[in-house]
Amino acid sequence: MQTYDLIVVGKGNAALCAALSARDQGASVAVLEAASEDESGGNSRFAGGVMRFAYESVDDLKRVTEVTDEEIATSDFGTNTREEYFDDLYRLTSYRTDADLSEILVTQSLDTMSWLRSKGVRFVLNYGRQSGLVDGKRKFFGRMPIEVSGGGAGLVQYLDQAAGKAGVDVFYDTRATSLVYDGVKVQGVRVQQKGAPAEFRAKAVILACGGFEANPEWRTRYLGPGWELAKVRGSRFNQGDGLKMALEIGAAPYGNWSGCHATGWDRYAPEFGDVNVGDQFQKHSYIFGLLINSSGKRFVDEGWDFHSFTYAKYGGEVLKQPGQFAWQVFDSKVTKLLRSEYRIKFVTKVSANSIEELAPKLEGVDADQFIKTVRDYNAAVRDDVKFDHTVKDGKSAAGIEPPKSNWAQKLDTPPFDAYMTTCGITFTFGGLRIDRETGQVFDVHLKPIPGLYCAGEIVGGLFYFNYPSCTGLVSGAVFGKLAGTGAGRAVKA
Ligand SMILES: Cc1cc2nc3c(=O)[nH]c(=O)nc-3n(C[C@H](O)[C@H](O)[C@H](O)COP(=O)(O)OP(=O)(O)OC[C@H]3O[C@@H](n4cnc5c(N)ncnc54)[C@H](O)[C@@H]3O)c2cc1C
Repeated sequence: MQTYDLIVVGKGNAALCAALSARDQGASVAVLEAASEDESGGNSRFAGGVMRFAYESVDDLKRVTEVTDEEIATSDFGTNTREEYFDDLYRLTSYRTDADLSEILVTQSLDTMSWLRSKGVRFVLNYGRQSGLVDGKRKFFGRMPIEVSGGGAGLVQYLDQAAGKAGVDVFYDTRATSLVYDGVKVQGVRVQQKGAPAEFRAKAVILACGGFEANPEWRTRYLGPGWELAKVRGSRFNQGDGLKMALEIGAAPYGNWSGCHATGWDRYAPEFGDVNVGDQFQKHSYIFGLLINSSGKRFVDEGWDFHSFTYAKYGGEVLKQPGQFAWQVFDSKVTKLLRSEYRIKFVTKVSANSIEELAPKLEGVDADQFIKTVRDYNAAVRDDVKFDHTVKDGKSAAGIEPPKSNWAQKLDTPPFDAYMTTCGITFTFGGLRIDRETGQVFDVHLKPIPGLYCAGEIVGGLFYFNYPSCTGLVSGAVFGKLAGTGAGRAVKA
């Protein structure tokens, strides 16, 4: 049996942030990771690495990364004021996001980014994914101009180095299975370590071991029938273990347990994420084309908003379609606007020089109805509005069901390309209820459970139905720091 002041379960972004901030309080910390070292790092390692935080000025951005005078002169970074961030969170979650949690997330996001930088995380401007040249200036849109150098894998590496320097002990192949709880206080965890049972004792435990997205039985149980068929975009280790352990001792479930973040994902991608491909099985440029189901019909408003505000729920819409797939169809006018993920080697793609020639190539699709759908759509496109991909341009296709609200151009310029997608689940929204000051987990009667804290995906109450893109890593860092500081102080008091 090993003894520490504090045990952190998991080794993704939230866990490492918790471990580092607990070390800052002087606590001795063990990080327990279910995966081997090779597969460690959780979903954080698969992430694109773009991070959405509140900023109002270039000075705010300079707290996170270097921005040269030339970049300032030639760029429009936009803003993501606290008000804008709150608006996005509230709007997308249908006003259900927990007021306290969202306030912590938004108001502490910039300070936390700066704290990450102080721990050695290197950030760069997000030129690749969400910026374009407008009137000679580089315009960043979507309110997230900064990403981690090296993406999510880079983030985990930087934090890993910081944890090593700070003297955090990491145990791989160590899957936490239950909490040591005497009915009053959590005193450690039981684990399966390299195939054998073992026990770690501590004054407090922080669960930062993700949601249940990689567990098909739990997905079916909580998200609903059909969700067992989703592909997993990231780690195979997030099985809901932390949730199970906490619920077993009476922790309060909280948030949208039947909700999750899920996106369009290559139809023939592997069952779980592949770290060599990272997030590139995703297909996020559907706003410029049409989404077609097996009946040859459209089923969502592809241009309702920037993909940042629709992609996390449209995966679930794809899952609901017969056969759980959708083709994304584009013409050559938008080829240059398609994100880099459309040009990877492993992609399920067909091309043709006419819609009629494309139709029979769309595996599983009613070809005649597809041709009719495109005709009806083309006839509904407004010719009097100019296409502009850097704003919600109002160029719509109206009078059809569903409408397309923005970026609706006729599909009329060959060659036509189509990409087959299915639903890829990212993470689940349901979680545990925490104290806003310390990250301590509440029991079902809303009393803090002595010695138990949590952070990251396992925190419930922030996201419902939908999610503003690139909030997950910031949320993991903010609540990881909160729980690490809260638990660290408590064990050193
Ligand atoms: C493909 C993809 C792209 C993404 N892109 C972005 C992006 O660009 N920006 C953004 O903000 N977010 C992004 N996200 C979301 C983001 O990755 C997650 O929100 C975030 O990483 C969650 O962090 P976490 O620390 O809570 O969980 P994770 O990083 O998943 O860490 C959980 C850890 O717990 C471990 N674990 C699980 N069970 C146990 C157990 N029983 N015992 C011990 N250890 C256990 C796991 O192995 C893992 O190390 C993306 C996610 C994916 C999958």
